[in-house]
Amino acid sequence: MKIPFSESGQEKSDSLNSSQSVARHGQARYHALFTYHPDGICELNRHGNIIYSNLAATRITGQSASALAGIGYVQVLHPEFLEVAQAAFQATLQGEHQYYQALCVGRQGHLVQLDITHVPIIANEQIIGVYAIFRDITQRKKDESELRLLKRGIEASPNGVVMADATQPHLPLVYVNSAFTEITGYSAEEALGRNCRFLQGGDTNREAVEEMRRGIAEHRDVQVLLRNYRRDGSMFWNQLSVSPVFDEQGQCTHFIGIQQDITQQREQEARLAYQSSHDPLTGLTNLGALQAQLERGFQTCSSQAQSLAVLYIDLDNFKPVNDALGHGMGDLLLKMVAQRLLDTVSAGAHVARLSSDEFVVLVAPFQNEHDVIALAGRILAVIAQPFTLYQHCLHISASIGIASNKGSVTKANELLHHASLAMEDAKRQGRNTWQWYCGDSIDNIAEHVIIRRELQEAIQAQQFEAYYQPIVDATTGYIRSVETLIRWHHPTKGLLSPALFMPIAEQTGQIIAIGRWILERACHDIAQLNATRETPLAVAVNISPMQFRRSGFMEEIQTALTKSGLPPGLLELEVTEGTLMSNTAQAVALLNKVRDLGISVALDDFGTGFSSLSYLRDLPISKVKLDRLFVSGIAQNAKNAAIVQGVITMAHHLDLAVVAEGIETKEEQLDLQQRQCNLLQGYFFSKPVPFDALTQLPLTLTPHLLP
Ligand code: C2E
Ligand code: MG
Ligand code: MG
Repeated sequence: MKIPFSESGQEKSDSLNSSQSVARHGQARYHALFTYHPDGICELNRHGNIIYSNLAATRITGQSASALAGIGYVQVLHPEFLEVAQAAFQATLQGEHQYYQALCVGRQGHLVQLDITHVPIIANEQIIGVYAIFRDITQRKKDESELRLLKRGIEASPNGVVMADATQPHLPLVYVNSAFTEITGYSAEEALGRNCRFLQGGDTNREAVEEMRRGIAEHRDVQVLLRNYRRDGSMFWNQLSVSPVFDEQGQCTHFIGIQQDITQQREQEARLAYQSSHDPLTGLTNLGALQAQLERGFQTCSSQAQSLAVLYIDLDNFKPVNDALGHGMGDLLLKMVAQRLLDTVSAGAHVARLSSDEFVVLVAPFQNEHDVIALAGRILAVIAQPFTLYQHCLHISASIGIASNKGSVTKANELLHHASLAMEDAKRQGRNTWQWYCGDSIDNIAEHVIIRRELQEAIQAQQFEAYYQPIVDATTGYIRSVETLIRWHHPTKGLLSPALFMPIAEQTGQIIAIGRWILERACHDIAQLNATRETPLAVAVNISPMQFRRSGFMEEIQTALTKSGLPPGLLELEVTEGTLMSNTAQAVALLNKVRDLGISVALDDFGTGFSSLSYLRDLPISKVKLDRLFVSGIAQNAKNAAIVQGVITMAHHLDLAVVAEGIETKEEQLDLQQRQCNLLQGYFFSKPVPFDALTQLPLTLTPHLLP
């Protein structure tokens, strides 16, 4: 290649002496600079034609130096830039340096982005041409636009993006995007320069933080879920992934963190998990979750030789409530039942709703069967309490089936099945009762189960009979009234005393049916007897605690009176202290209602419980029955005598009559008479007798009285 200029450049050199050799060296260096300069350089004459072009120019334009030589410089450029290039060229000819960007069509028709500078060539103070120097900035432009895109992308990202300086020991943040400020509430100014941990609170998961620290220390990608706090103090779940950024030398210069606020997602997941394991109406555990709990409980209890019980509770007659009052009321009732169940069970028990009106209580573990039976009794009692739904007062009951893991049960699911079978049994037994699944052969349970099944048969087969025991006037010997005492003609065991079966009937709820029967029987028998008597007899009926507490009890009394025609004044209810103790206010209210009907009430077995004397003052009762315990052998027992005397004296002051029970001897009779006891009852006068025998008794039992 020829050296383009010989006149330019005044070289200074200490080593060369002659000006010729200076010029030669200068030309050689200029030649090298021109030829190998990385930018394309074309020397143009005043007409804009290319005189010389260097290697870079041929590489950029894709044309050889000979092809370029002589053509107008602007032809090398894309036609679109013709005007700009010409204007710049003209301006350079005026002595002005020019700078602009343009495109040229390079190798294989590729467009090349050029950064172009025009410099005038001055010789002898004349502008003799122009240097067009151009640099291929295609890659730079591409990088710039990519960077712009990237930045815009990061800025527009819904995820928080942060960058920390890895060369500083405390890894200060050097960049945060706008999503970060939106998520955290911290502005970029507040965040930059700080370590990202300022978002953490005291309760941040230590393990997650440790894992992140390890990832950072080892310069590897790490993903963690952190509890972070916004500027306003509210918590958010930060799903954070941190990646190291390396430079060309492989040095970690930055960490880039992408944070995703997954609080809503977590809440949604938690909601879904809750919904999939809970009954939406009552908030109780649903069947699926119960089965899982049962499975777990079964495994644990089996491995530790503990007992576990399932109580399957089905409301009696729930459907009519739904039908009559609508599903809204039905739902409300179910919610209230659920709440009562929760209030009744102890802390360790689970309550679930399976469907419609079916609930399950899981007791795991339990110590002995009686605790479970007691719980079943409490549940029956609590459901029997009236429900107030707006202006409606509803009475419902439930049937409960119980199954335990004792015996041959091998799978948790069997328990649920057994309990449901037992529940159906309870329904068949007349509802408002519980039934223990009797596939199990546990002795004490079986005995219980046998009696209750036989009792059920007894109700249906009318194996009960009402016996009556006279109560005589202590001064005249006249039979004033009779106490009704139930007897069971057991098909194999003969005549059974109520002491043997009434406590079980009380526990199972069968007392309700039996109590109703004896009440009606007694009213009926005595009304019939009175029809033949001049002076009518009164009749006393024992009332069990469950009977007394049950809603609908007053209606039962009314029905018995109406059916028999017995005047209310001739009916007396015998209740024990235990019956009145459990809910005194309610008991007093009920006793008042009973008294308002004209029915009298006697406090039975007085002295055997934790008698509170204030009862005698406050309760609307008319009689106290002294238990046989104090009467028997009274002459020989001074302490008993003192108690009896005390009770009689006090009762009289309170206008209460006193009945002495269990008089078996003349001695006892005389003693009680002397102590002014009003009425006497016991084998000495008559044992309890069947109705027929009662009709045969004389009007007075005077032969034994004082002359
Ligand atoms: P109670 O109400 O205190 O009845 C008195 C019990 O003493 C009766 O026992 C009666 O037979 C017995 N008795 C009466 N006089 C004598 C006597 O001179 N000597 C002895 N040794 N005993 C005498 P019974 O009939 O076995 O009844 C026991 C308990 O069963 C009753 O005690 C009562 O609490 C309950 N019961 C009986 N019938 C019914 C009933 O129809 N409904 C309810 N809820 N309970 C009943
Ligand atoms: Mg009695
Ligand atoms: Mg008694």
